[in-house]
Amino acid sequence: MTLVSARDLVTDAARSGTGIGAFNVIHLETAEALVRASAQAGLPVIVQISQNCADYHGGLEPIAVATLAVARRAETPVAVHLDHAERPDLVDEAIALGFGSVMFDGGALPYDENVAVTAAVTERAHAAGVYVEGELGEVGGKDGAHAPGVRTDPDEARAFVEATGVDALAVAVGSSHAMTDRTASLDLSLIARLHDALSVPLVLHGSSGVADAVITDAVRAGMTKINVSTHLNGFFTRAIRSVLDADERLVDSRRYLAPARDALADEAARMLRLFALEG
Ligand SMILES: [Zn+2]
Repeated sequence: MTLVSARDLVTDAARSGTGIGAFNVIHLETAEALVRASAQAGLPVIVQISQNCADYHGGLEPIAVATLAVARRAETPVAVHLDHAERPDLVDEAIALGFGSVMFDGGALPYDENVAVTAAVTERAHAAGVYVEGELGEVGGKDGAHAPGVRTDPDEARAFVEATGVDALAVAVGSSHAMTDRTASLDLSLIARLHDALSVPLVLHGSSGVADAVITDAVRAGMTKINVSTHLNGFFTRAIRSVLDADERLVDSRRYLAPARDALADEAARMLRLFALEG
């Protein structure tokens, strides 16, 4: 197998009532680790590049081209997705680069503006055969704080999906971005109500702050795409720290990046199995 669209992976997971892992690429070693995790687990993966990551690299193209190349060489199905694009022009660039799916994040916009911009972006993406994830009800935590209590209303979500044509929807159900402990509680009854109300799969952002058992409960309640970044970054960075702490004369960066890549692959593989309810 090789590069596929997130459309196929999310649709298959939604049909089978399981979850699909969507993990963030930060640099080349992350992309390599996540594709290796997919092979280790024998399960597909969505690797995603955020607007923040593109900005860190000074543009989307270098990290995107590298990630797409790694994905094309995969033994298992791998999708490359644009995460949290708040600038419509970044979506257009991702489509031109060959991404099979994009997230346009208008969650911080007033509702009417979110609808208008998301609908326009979705129309252009669909014309190119690209799958679109939208967001309604801001998923909190840009500052690392706990969930601010924002929740996505099922009726508003249904109206949003109909008005914009998005293929999947990121919803606010209690998780929060960039948490470094796994203590968030999720509103499982709201997930079930959103699942019943909507014709499109649900996306959980901020899953790093959610414990294993709560994530699997969320999948059973109807959550499909599970986004994780911070939690996996922790495995990568702790491995580097332990190698550097053990040898202060080390200078070859491959000597600490390789074990970090291994540690990230192992945890990502474990999470792929967990979300697929094989754990
Ligand atoms: Zn997110």
